[in-house]
Amino acid sequence: MTELRSDTFTKPTKEMLAFMFAAKVGDDVWDEDLTVKALEKRIALLFGMEAALFCPSGTMANQIAIKVHTQPGDEVICDYSSHIYQYEAGGIAFNSSASVNLLQGTNGKITVDLVQSALKEENIHFSKQSLVSVENTTNKGGGACYDLIELQSLSTFCKSKSLAFHMDGARLYNAMVKTNTKPADYGAIFDSISVCMSKGLGAPIGSLLLGNNAFIAQAKRIRKVLGGGMRQAGYLAAACDYALDTNIDLLQHDHRRAKVIETALKSLDYAIEVLPVETNIVIFSLADPTSFVAFLKEQNILCSAISASQIRFVTHLQFTDQMLEVLVKALLVWK
Ligand SMILES: *Cc1c(COP(=O)(O)O)cnc(C)c1O
Repeated sequence: MTELRSDTFTKPTKEMLAFMFAAKVGDDVWDEDLTVKALEKRIALLFGMEAALFCPSGTMANQIAIKVHTQPGDEVICDYSSHIYQYEAGGIAFNSSASVNLLQGTNGKITVDLVQSALKEENIHFSKQSLVSVENTTNKGGGACYDLIELQSLSTFCKSKSLAFHMDGARLYNAMVKTNTKPADYGAIFDSISVCMSKGLGAPIGSLLLGNNAFIAQAKRIRKVLGGGMRQAGYLAAACDYALDTNIDLLQHDHRRAKVIETALKSLDYAIEVLPVETNIVIFSLADPTSFVAFLKEQNILCSAISASQIRFVTHLQFTDQMLEVLVKALLVWK
């Protein structure tokens, strides 16, 4: 089977598994897992942020950040298509009793003007606006990335309005490869950042949440209350170390292959709208997603319908050039 439903489907390679098995572990809830400690320190140094926390998932990392940055009744400002709003099971309400102010951004990206227009004056009728969250790359937005300068303006604006600024960086490494930026560029402008190791980087489990010491101290308590304190998690942290060592350089190939899919789709009449491909996600609209998914499945290719009119392909390190060739041929055959 050729897997294009998500970059979360990658399986650890033999080399990654060997690296995991060799990890020194301890009880991380007791702060005694040296591999987890080292990974948290490594990522904090990379981003130039004070501290980091190893979390079981990107969802938990985002939800912890929202919980720390808000009080019940506060408002989180984000794009309407954000993962934190669309795909985290109502967690903003469930975990933080917070409300949302949804912006109509472009391909999942928001601007200072949009945030400005959502701001309310200080008045007891209104919820307190405490957090702005951006996604980079955008998932529903087709893997679009922010220019660093756009994020810097948002950061300056948030600071001037005393709003916390969070980045859901589930695919931040894809964005860094695409825009030739480095972790410290982001560490300098965000109050908190979540990064997934289990997407394009190919680790089986794990996300890191970054922030200052006070933020991470609070985050650690929230992680515990959510049941995310893990014991001998060093085996998982080792997979993340391996992913950071070896897989960042492979992301460019995922992007190249996604571009090939985009080019093929653009030449085909049935693909009504193809979102601009910047990284490893290809989203396009067509008349009948259900039968398209079924057609590709017959050719042993899996993709997903993400709405009544849209298909999504996500490339990753276990999607090869050979599979790409077969996919492109199949795309040409459909209607
Ligand atoms: C995948 C993803 C997450 C977190 O996903 P988990 O499956 O919980 O690790 C968060 N944000 C975005 C944009 C994502 O694509």
